[in-house]
Amino acid sequence: MTLRKHTPTVGFVSLGCPKNTVDSEMILTRLRAEGYLISNDYAGADLVVVNTCGFIDDAVAESLDCIGEALNENGKVIVTGCLGAKGNVVRDTHPSVLAVTGPQATQEVMEHIHAQLPPVHEPFIDLVPPQGIRITPQHYAYLKISEGCNHHCSFCIIPDLRGRLVSRPIGDVLQEAEALASAGVKELLIVSQDTSAYGVDVKYRTGFHGGRPVKTRLFELCQALGELGIWVRLHYVYPYPSVDQLLPLMAEGKILPYLDVPFQHASPKILKLMQRPASSENNLARIKAWRAVCPDITIRSTFITGFPGETEADFEELLSFLEEAQLDRVGAFAYSPVEGAAANELPGALPLEVREERRRLLLEFQEDISTQRLEARIGRRMRVLVDEVDEDGALARSPGDAPEIDGLVYVTDGHDLPVGEFVEVEITDCDVHDLYARRLTD
Ligand code: SF4
Repeated sequence: MTLRKHTPTVGFVSLGCPKNTVDSEMILTRLRAEGYLISNDYAGADLVVVNTCGFIDDAVAESLDCIGEALNENGKVIVTGCLGAKGNVVRDTHPSVLAVTGPQATQEVMEHIHAQLPPVHEPFIDLVPPQGIRITPQHYAYLKISEGCNHHCSFCIIPDLRGRLVSRPIGDVLQEAEALASAGVKELLIVSQDTSAYGVDVKYRTGFHGGRPVKTRLFELCQALGELGIWVRLHYVYPYPSVDQLLPLMAEGKILPYLDVPFQHASPKILKLMQRPASSENNLARIKAWRAVCPDITIRSTFITGFPGETEADFEELLSFLEEAQLDRVGAFAYSPVEGAAANELPGALPLEVREERRRLLLEFQEDISTQRLEARIGRRMRVLVDEVDEDGALARSPGDAPEIDGLVYVTDGHDLPVGEFVEVEITDCDVHDLYARRLTD
C-alpha cells in the first residue's frame, strides 16, 4: 500500500486595497500551481501568510493585530505587503514571525514558503486554471496594469513603499484580461496607483497582442479591452487632458461610463501643498467637457478634509466645488498623518475634531447632490450585474456602481435572478446611495 503524502497547506489572509488583492492572487496562483492546498482556517494550515497594509495608522494596527492572531492560532507566520516595507515595525512587535517581505514579492514569499514547507511535487494533479486563482467573486476581477507611482503627494508614502511607476507589458495585460473573460468574468476593474499614467515609464512603447502592434497607453488599452464585450471600469484616474480621449469610448458603450478620479481637494493652495498630480488643471471645466461627450458618466471621487493649512475659506471652496461639480459619488477622509509623509512637516496642523467635523459637513453637504443624481435615474431602464440573491431579492450593481465602494441596485422581485449575470431592470426608487428596481422580462 502506498501512503499518500500530506499535502502542504497554507492559510492566507489578505488585507488592504485592491492592489494588495492582486498581489495575493499572484501568490495564491503560484501556491496552487505548485500543489499547495489553501486552508480557510488557521488550524488546518501548516503555516499562514499575512499580506498586510501599511497605508494609514489604522491599517497598520489592523495588520499587526492580524499577525498576532495568526501567531496565536497557528504559530508559523510569513508576513508580506506594505507593512513589511516599513522598517522593523513587524519584527519589533512580533519577533517570532518566520519571514517578512515588502509588497509585490511573490518570488521572495514563495522562497520563504519553500524553506519552511517544501512542496510535494505531483505533476499529474498540480493543475491550475489558466486564469489563476482569484479571491473576488467569480464574476468580477481586478486587473492591475502597473505598480508604483512617480508622484510625490505630500500625504502619501506609497512611492516609498512600492517604488516608481512600472507599467506591465500591454500584451500581458490583455492576455490576462482575455483569460479572465474566458473564465466567465463579467467585469474588469482596472487598478494601479495612477491609471492615467499607464505606459509613461516605457514611453508608450509598442507591444504586441494577437499578432498586432499595440501601444502601451491607456487609450489603446481601453480600446482593446472594449472589444471583450464585458464591463471595464477605470479606477484611480487623474484628470489629465489625455483622459478626454476615453470619453468617446464610454459614450459608445465600449467601456463603462465611469471614472474614479481622486480629486482630494479643490483649493489650489491646498492642492499645491498636497503636491497632487494635475493640480493645475481646471477640473470643473474638464468635468463639464466629459459630461458633454458622455452625459451618462458616473464620476466618483474622494477628498481629504483638514489638511495642514486648510482654512475655513479653503474648506468653503471645496464645498463650492462640490456644488458646481455635481459628482455622483463622494468619499471623504479626515486628514490623518502617515508616518514618514512629507505633509507631517507642514505648518498649520488642525485638531482632530476640526478635521472630523469638516469631513462630516462635507458628506452631509454631498448627500443631497448624490440623492438628486440618483433620483434622475428613476424610471430608466438599465442593465445591471447581479452580485447576490437573498430573501429580499437580488443585490445588483449598475454601470455607476463599483463593487464595495459604491451603492447597489436592489431588485426587489429578483429572487430567482442568476448571480453573476447581466439583467435588464427598471429603476423605481432611490435613497442616498442605492437604487431600487424591478426586473424587466422582455
Ligand atoms: S498619486 Fe499621490 S496619493 Fe496616489 S500613490 Fe502616487 S503619491 Fe500616493
